[in-house]
Amino acid sequence: MPEGPEMVFLKEQAAQFIGCSIISATGQAPHLPFQELPEQTLNNIRTFGKEIFFCFSDLTIRIHLMLFGKYSINGELNRELRLGLEFETGTINFYACDCRIISQPLNDVYDWSSDVMQKSFNPEKALEKLYKEPKKLICEALLDQAILAGVGNGIKNEVLYQRQIHPESQVGEIPPEEVRKLINACVTFSAQYLRWLQEGNRNEHWQVYRQKVCPRDQIPLRKEKIGKGGRSCYFCDKCQQLYHINTL
Ligand SMILES: [Zn+2]
Repeated sequence: MPEGPEMVFLKEQAAQFIGCSIISATGQAPHLPFQELPEQTLNNIRTFGKEIFFCFSDLTIRIHLMLFGKYSINGELNRELRLGLEFETGTINFYACDCRIISQPLNDVYDWSSDVMQKSFNPEKALEKLYKEPKKLICEALLDQAILAGVGNGIKNEVLYQRQIHPESQVGEIPPEEVRKLINACVTFSAQYLRWLQEGNRNEHWQVYRQKVCPRDQIPLRKEKIGKGGRSCYFCDKCQQLYHINTL
């Protein structure tokens, strides 16, 4: 699933269409008013976590790439087209994604200060929200988009490894200083992730995500689905500390 930095990267690639008008709009996405789209001018593109918004004069299209969503700029993929927008200067096509219309102002719907990719991200607010569910496992809490929008499974695994925190740790058992550092790691790692995407070498940088050996200890990593969400965790039992009530 694409994470926050990937959506910002998409925004940068699609920015070429800002100021352009739609010539035609096609696709199979339900609930989109395709007839209303031609002649609308793209005023802005924004992102929130794993969502991207194409803001036109009268409406905003929100796209979430979900698990298997794909897009192509000035190209086509051999899949069912959900939404294809043709501008004077090129096209952008979306596949296997969720597309919706948002008619309210985005600032009324989204709290930008919870998105790790935004300058307005507020780490203290994230800390407060994390401690509201002290029994929750940290590997699940980090994926809560209402707390740390944009953090996905890759970022989660990497920051827990960086900060040497075991994914099965309970949030309330981790000292605040460590949680603060973990939140900061989410922000700095996400920014780095975006740079790697821009340089085209993201996959060279994973320390543990989808890897087999702990770079610190040179021993096999564990891979397990942990928590209610069932998302995969990649971690090292030796160098990642478990903060859990039963172990104290
Ligand atoms: Zn290790």
